[in-house]
Amino acid sequence: MTTRAITALAAAVLAIVVLCSGLATTLTFGGGPANAHCTLASTSAGASPPGPPGPGGVGPIGRWNGEQVANAATIIAVGQALQVPARGWVIAVATAMQESQLANLRGGADDSIGLFQQRPSQGWGSPAQLHDPQYAATKFYQKLKTIDGWQAMPLTEAAQKVQVSAYPNAYAKWEPDATHLVGTLSGTTSGLGACTVTVSGQGWTQPVDATVGSGFRTTDRPGHDGVDLIVGKGAAIYAASAGTVSRVRCNAVDTRTGRDWGCDRDGDPDLTAGCGWYVDIDHAGGIVTRYCHLLVQPYVHVGQHVGAGEVIGISGSSGHSSGPHLHFEVHRGDHSAATAIDPVPFMASVGAPLGQSER
Ligand SMILES: [Zn+2]
Repeated sequence: MTTRAITALAAAVLAIVVLCSGLATTLTFGGGPANAHCTLASTSAGASPPGPPGPGGVGPIGRWNGEQVANAATIIAVGQALQVPARGWVIAVATAMQESQLANLRGGADDSIGLFQQRPSQGWGSPAQLHDPQYAATKFYQKLKTIDGWQAMPLTEAAQKVQVSAYPNAYAKWEPDATHLVGTLSGTTSGLGACTVTVSGQGWTQPVDATVGSGFRTTDRPGHDGVDLIVGKGAAIYAASAGTVSRVRCNAVDTRTGRDWGCDRDGDPDLTAGCGWYVDIDHAGGIVTRYCHLLVQPYVHVGQHVGAGEVIGISGSSGHSSGPHLHFEVHRGDHSAATAIDPVPFMASVGAPLGQSER
């Protein structure tokens, strides 16, 4: 997320009193747009909590090896045991990514120790205690829970209030990775973002907080069936409304050879065709939304029900793309190009105008 986006987010948070509690809770707050609310409906029914890692350890996930993943699982398990909402697990895992790369370090700067690089001289505990991941995570959460409004804060602000780090802006860059790791290990994708998504009375929200770039079927690009929302890599992409995920695909073709280009790397505006990593969601009334050029494999799967504002993936530049953005389409009827409509007036008509900071 950009500094500007964080500032905008912080401003929105200040303007709105958000009451957050628990995972499976629908929250309401006043002072924002009419009927705005923040949905944290759980989709984790049936998923088993990770629990502490067993003697067999945990396998690697993405760039994180088994030991690092096991430490993340311990942090999540402690958060669950303390009944900290899922957003707190993300903040804790992102903090440990920044402080220790999720390694239970024996030392560090000054007298810092362990996953969170807590210091005995600052009253966090004894060196032996701080080298115990369960103890260290417990202390992190205990401090986090004392911070008023932590669930609605940008991650970097909440982490900084716990850690009082010399480099407070360093936490934000871990949010997508931490969100993914927590989502994978805990089996939930809900409630992982800051509780600041506002949903219109008609049940819609912006898919990303971004400015509008290239428009729908312009003179220059008559075949452009969506709108480009300009956002850097790593921003959370939200389901624009409740619905059922109907497609999760990688579509990126090397135009020179006709072969697969792959989606786990950036595409090229000339050499790559296709939407990259993308998601389609079917909504009530025959409306379909499409989200293209995601950075990594989306966090949702076909058949999954998602709520408005649920994180479905993160922004990137895969497929036919000249730089990071979200290509967003709205269809009325089916998934074909023939049914695409202009997202700008549509989103305005459902109370979630694009390009205007709501969160
Ligand atoms: Zn586009």
